[in-house]
Amino acid sequence: MKATEEFAIGLDIGGTKVLAALVSENGEVVSEIQCDTKGGGENFSHQMIFAIESLLEKENIEMNSIKGIGIATAGVINSKKKEILFASNLNLGNFPVGKVLERKFGLPVQLYNDANAAAVGEWLWGNGKGKHNLIYITVSTGIGAGIISNDSLLTGSHDSAGEFGHISINLNGPLCPCGNKGCLENYASGTAIAAIARERLETGEVNPYFSATIDKLTAVDICTAAKMGDSFSIGLLEEVGEYLGLGIINLIHLFNTEAVILGGGVMNESELILPSIRSTVHKHGIQSMVEQVKIEKASLGRYACVVGATGLFFCKVDELAALPN
Ligand SMILES: [Zn+2]
Repeated sequence: MKATEEFAIGLDIGGTKVLAALVSENGEVVSEIQCDTKGGGENFSHQMIFAIESLLEKENIEMNSIKGIGIATAGVINSKKKEILFASNLNLGNFPVGKVLERKFGLPVQLYNDANAAAVGEWLWGNGKGKHNLIYITVSTGIGAGIISNDSLLTGSHDSAGEFGHISINLNGPLCPCGNKGCLENYASGTAIAAIARERLETGEVNPYFSATIDKLTAVDICTAAKMGDSFSIGLLEEVGEYLGLGIINLIHLFNTEAVILGGGVMNESELILPSIRSTVHKHGIQSMVEQVKIEKASLGRYACVVGATGLFFCKVDELAALPN
């Protein structure tokens, strides 16, 4: 570690765990620690402080070389006030995480939703490096997106931009918990992949790849079966790719983006879905808009959020804007 090097602390807060990482100015994770967030509520501040203190102790690092603390969370947030407005898994409501950590450590704090943090990570140091316009999409239990437009993160008026999973692709589709009908998330998320497979297998022919466990089937099982050559699973994942592709065409037409970067658990098996996404986009999109768009798997993996949450402490926006197109 060079004495002059600068760092920031990234926190990726999930429903049961927090990943805390010391991130270098090059976006590398120098050190990490994972702690429980069990119970949340009143314990939550102690858990966050404990995670950060443990990390600092482990690396024995000078506080003056740390530029700030960046937080990514799946909860509903107010990024300006640095508050977690609602996080059901953590039993939190209107929690001023920014104020608590700023007061404790004397460092600036930035708060993002997880898709936005991952978008910043991929933009600065991942597969979207050098792009001025990119969209990061996470396909996991749900589907979300982070949008970088002309070198800025697009958050919307209430930090809710990028609800890609809740764009409707079928007015006659199933009712989504959000209140809309036929949302993309009901056709292409990890949850949807498992649900659709269960429904079809219960009424269809017996499939030797899934024997007696149909009611417990997960998206991972479908991917495993597809890799073993199961035509049912291969077909279902191609369908998922078509739905995602249709959604992505809408994004490309709206934002004229240069790159679409896909992450999240389902994309761990990107080779089963990406070809279908790409061919759908190229077949049905406006050619002059879609032909140049790079559609790739994310490259930062489980670090995308911790790294991305620290990104803007190091990023010089003027330099980004000066990059050649
Ligand atoms: Zn919805």
